[in-house]
Amino acid sequence: MSVILKRRHFMRSALAAIPAAALPFGKLFAAADAATIDDVEAVTGVGKQIILKGADVKDFAERLRGELLLRSSAGYDTARRAWNGAFDRHPALIARCSGPADVMEAVKFAAANQLLLSVRGGGHSLSGQSVCEKGLMIDLSQMNSARVDPRKRMATIEGGALLGALDRETLAHGLATTAGTVSHTGVGGLTLGGGFGRLGRRFGLACDNVRAIDVVTADGRFVTASAQENKELFWGLRGGGGNFGVATAFDFQLHPVDPMMLGGELVYSFDDAPAVLKYLFDFAPEMPEELSLDLTLLRLPDDMRALSLDVCYSGPLASGEKLLAPLRQLRKPVADRVVQTPYIKLQQTADVSLGHGKKYYIKGGFVQKTSAALIDVIMATIADAKLPVVQVVSMQPAGGAIKRVSPSATAFAQRGLAYNSFVLAAWEDPSLSEAVGQWARSAWKNVEPHTHGFYVNEFNEDGGRMKATYGVNYDRLVALKTKLDPNNLFRLNANLAPRGA
Ligand SMILES: Cc1cc2nc3c(=O)[nH]c(=O)nc-3n(C[C@H](O)[C@H](O)[C@H](O)COP(=O)(O)OP(=O)(O)OC[C@H]3O[C@@H](n4cnc5c(N)ncnc54)[C@H](O)[C@@H]3O)c2cc1C
Repeated sequence: MSVILKRRHFMRSALAAIPAAALPFGKLFAAADAATIDDVEAVTGVGKQIILKGADVKDFAERLRGELLLRSSAGYDTARRAWNGAFDRHPALIARCSGPADVMEAVKFAAANQLLLSVRGGGHSLSGQSVCEKGLMIDLSQMNSARVDPRKRMATIEGGALLGALDRETLAHGLATTAGTVSHTGVGGLTLGGGFGRLGRRFGLACDNVRAIDVVTADGRFVTASAQENKELFWGLRGGGGNFGVATAFDFQLHPVDPMMLGGELVYSFDDAPAVLKYLFDFAPEMPEELSLDLTLLRLPDDMRALSLDVCYSGPLASGEKLLAPLRQLRKPVADRVVQTPYIKLQQTADVSLGHGKKYYIKGGFVQKTSAALIDVIMATIADAKLPVVQVVSMQPAGGAIKRVSPSATAFAQRGLAYNSFVLAAWEDPSLSEAVGQWARSAWKNVEPHTHGFYVNEFNEDGGRMKATYGVNYDRLVALKTKLDPNNLFRLNANLAPRGA
C-alpha cells in the first residue's frame, strides 16, 4: 500500500515539475479562446442570483489545463447530459478537469464565489444531482484511468472512471473487487456512498475495499485519506457520499477470482413468484457468500409481468449448479439463461435496459428483515401497475462480508440490512411523467414501512431518513462535515448539513 501511495506522490510531484509552457494551456479550453467573455449569470449554493464577471471567468479558464465550457461552448450540451433523462439542467459553467490541480482550481473558484457546485463522476445520479442548474459543475469524465499493480493486488482508479474500466483492468489479471451491476456507472459516486455489487456478499461493499482516497476538500486542499493519514476523513468518505470533497483517485484492494462465473437470468412467471420469493427469503441468511441473487418483479408496457433473478456465483462451477438446483426444481423457470459466463459480460447485462437518456423515477430503502407481508406488498405493487411504462420492484442482496463490518467502522452504518430495495419506473414519453411519479410515490408508501434507512446513492433526502440511515454514525458525520465543509459547498448529495449553516 505504502509503495502505491509513494508512487502516486512521485507522479504528482513529477507533474508539478513540468513547466507550465509545456502543458497545453490555451488550446483545450473553450472559455478562454475568446478575447473577452461576457458576464455570466449564476446562482449561489443558497439560490441567490449572482453575476460572475467575464474577466474573472476568463482568468479561471486560463488556470485550468482542461476545458471550461460556457452555455455557448461546443460540447456543452453533451457534457451536461445526465444518465437520467428526467433532468435537463443547465450549469452556468462546466469545468472539465484534467487532473487534481484543475479540481483544486474549480473548488477554489466555487468557494470564492459561493457558487452552487455539483460534482459529476460517471453521471449516474438517479436524482440528477451531479448536474446543477446555473452553478459550476465539476466534470471528472476526463479523469478516467484505471491502473492495476497485480503483485500488490491493488488498483488505482481515477475519480471519473466508470465501472467498466475498473472491471476490465482488474480482470485482465484474474483480480476483481466489488463494483455495481451496470458497467457505465461511475466508480466515484458508487464507492463514496457504499457500493453494492455481484461480489459484495463475498468481498464487502465497494467502499470496504478502498485503502486510500485522494480528495480535494472544500478549502481547495489536496489530501490523501487512508488508515494512516486523515483517518476521520477516510472513515467519512466510505459511505458518506459526496459530502466531504471531490475524490480524484481511489486505491482499491483486489481479490483473486475466476473470471468465468456461473451467472445470468432466471425468469419465473408472475403466478410462481410468491413461492420463489418465499424460498429466496428463507434461503438468503444461509446463502454462501459467493452467491448473489438480485431479484426484480417487473411489469412491461405490454402488460407482461414476471420475476427475474440476476444470478452470479463466483465459486466453483459444480457447487453453483448444486446450489441452484432447488430453485430450478421449485418452479419451472420460463427462461433459464444461467450458464458459465465471463464475469465481465455479466457486469454488462443491464447496460442497455438501463441505458442513458430514458426518464427514470425511483424510491427506495433498506429492508432489514424479510417477511410474508413484504411478499404480499411487492406482489400487489406490480399486480396494480398499469401504466404503459416499465415498472419494477427490485431488491439487491446484502449480508455476508457486508454484514461482518462493524456499523461504526465506516460511515456506512446499515450493515445488518438484508436487501437494498427500490421501486422504479422507466419511460420516454414526457406526457406520462406525472402519472409515473404518482404511481411510484403511492407504491413506495406501501413498501416503505418494511424498510429502515435508505441508500444515499439513490436519493437526496434530508431529515428523519438521513438519521435512520446513518444511525450510530450520524452525529459523528455531521461533526466531520461541520469541520471540513462549514458552508456546505458540497450540498448536492444526500446532504449532511453542517451545524449552523
Ligand atoms: C443504471 C444504474 C445502475 C446502478 N447500479 C448500482 C449497483 O449495482 N450498486 C450500487 O451500489 N449502486 C448502483 N447505482 C447507484 C449508483 O451508485 C449511484 O447512482 C452513484 O451515485 C453513481 O455514481 P456516478 O459517479 O456515476 O454518479 P454521478 O451522477 O456522477 O454522481 C452522483 C453523486 O456522487 C458524487 N460524486 C460522484 N463522483 C464523485 C467524486 N469523484 N468525488 C466526489 N463526489 C462524487 C456527487 O455527490 C454526485 O452528485 C446504479 C445507478 C444507476 C443509474
